[in-house]
Amino acid sequence: MSVQLDSYLQGSWKAGEGDPRSLINPTTEATVATIRSVTRSLADAVAYGRETGGKSLRAMSFAERGAMLKGMAKALHEAREELIDIAIQNGGNTRGDAKFDIDGGISVLSHYAYLAKELGKDSKGNDKPWLIEDEPVEVYRGSKIRAEHILLPRHGLAVHINAFNFPAWGMMGKAAVALLAGMPVLCKPATSTAWLAHRMVQILVDAGLVPEGAFQLLMGSAGDLLDHLGPQDVVAFTGSQAVGLQIKTHANVIARGVRVNLEADSLNSVVIGPDVEEGTELFDLVIRDLAVEMTQKAGQKCTATRRVFVPEGAVDSIKEALFDRLDQIKIGDPSDKANRMGPLTSKRQLEDARAGVKTLSADAEILRGNPERSEGFAGVEAGTGYFLEPIVLLGKPDKVADPQAAFHQHEVFAPVSTLLPYDGELATAAKLIAMGNGSLVTTVYTDDRKWLAQAVAEMGPYLGRIVVANEKHAGASMAPGCVFPVANHGGPGRAGGGAELGGVHGMSLYMQRVAVQGGASQLARLLGK
Ligand code: NAP
Repeated sequence: MSVQLDSYLQGSWKAGEGDPRSLINPTTEATVATIRSVTRSLADAVAYGRETGGKSLRAMSFAERGAMLKGMAKALHEAREELIDIAIQNGGNTRGDAKFDIDGGISVLSHYAYLAKELGKDSKGNDKPWLIEDEPVEVYRGSKIRAEHILLPRHGLAVHINAFNFPAWGMMGKAAVALLAGMPVLCKPATSTAWLAHRMVQILVDAGLVPEGAFQLLMGSAGDLLDHLGPQDVVAFTGSQAVGLQIKTHANVIARGVRVNLEADSLNSVVIGPDVEEGTELFDLVIRDLAVEMTQKAGQKCTATRRVFVPEGAVDSIKEALFDRLDQIKIGDPSDKANRMGPLTSKRQLEDARAGVKTLSADAEILRGNPERSEGFAGVEAGTGYFLEPIVLLGKPDKVADPQAAFHQHEVFAPVSTLLPYDGELATAAKLIAMGNGSLVTTVYTDDRKWLAQAVAEMGPYLGRIVVANEKHAGASMAPGCVFPVANHGGPGRAGGGAELGGVHGMSLYMQRVAVQGGASQLARLLGK
């Protein structure tokens, strides 16, 4: 049975007028839903969000908006089993993958609901419409005049354009932050996996949890949305570098100074320190993390590990242990709990991944996996579905330090990683990390504190997040691709240059920083200190 997925705009569900587009189950290739894009102008939806939704949200305190997020988290949690089923059908997610996405989205809502309790209160506990960023500072030494920074919700619309791989976490991760900041949201999920996002919004609308106009949903193409944005609006985009560039350079976006945050491609890395020895817990952690990052969501994670820097002497032991681990991961129909990895989410993803492996093969040798394999996946008819088995490559020795080598340039969004031998020197590893031109995350495994301190200093500027792992904490360590709402998400350069989440910091994307300047006592009274 296939469902038609309408947009939720200006307070009601609206069918689009464009040609129907099919959403496919990537395991069976059956159509599960259809979408027709809205082809008429979106100007009224933009104005409605700004005026109706924005006004209602700004009339609420931070605590009230937090309570709204808590209600949203609860409503979605109650529908969790149904949502998991949709993610399996439309996203090719295993149950674990689906939970990672859905629970991830719910946990961001819950985290921001929790943060809200303390926000926007003066010293007497009264609610204020702003956040105070810092302490008042003399404008010059000896002056009675002070400056202090506050953040106020922007009077615009937060447009969220999301990628196909995290329909739940991507949508709720952005919405929680914008709504708590006081900005209405218009979300446009990626079309191929939009059923899950659609059902989540249906649940929230039916529960009447969000004020009118504060949450709109646009299915299918973005239409003329960007043409109607202005200086108080924000676009938060997650997706490919190519589309990110189109958005950033859109004539109206530039001309009207629309604030843009981009989360794009990333060649995330792992650096195995020269001191990591086989037989240690840290070595086992390296292998566990590599296998998780390659196979969770079939490698379709923006934070998945693409480049693995291995000390030259350790390549064989890492290779063998990793292959053993990957061999234990059963690939097949994700609706069967016994299977630990499902298909890629669409035919296009499979074609892109196969082409990407070919590109990498110019500078690396395939050690494990056959990109053309199309049979032998558990519970799946031969030749059906968009399956790709995990592929491990080894960089050619003369290419590892070549900044133009494919593995430093090209992201293959699939269960594909390249081992890159290095001499164990920190300076070499830092130089190689930088060749990715900016990444979301790098993980450094070492017990050498001095080496680690230098690694953080040298590699940090090229990253949004650095995960450090040692023997002592190996048991408690989380796989690096897991993004927590407390930590910054975003990276410089090719990763888009954006910053999301990171607790209260993430709210600044949706707020205007204003320096309030005046007499010390005047400021104290005004800001309620
Ligand atoms: P994509 O093709 O760039 O699409 C991303 C979103 O942009 C989709 O909603 C898409 O809609 C929309 N879009 C396409 N053309 C547009 C246009 N001209 N104007 C406005 N919106 C437009 O990316 P994807 O294939 O969904 O996702 C894969 C990529 O996302 C990978 O490169 C991955 O690295 C990146 N990613 C990054 C992060 C991060 O946080 N850094 C997270 C996840 C994924 P349609 O689906 O309707 O075309």
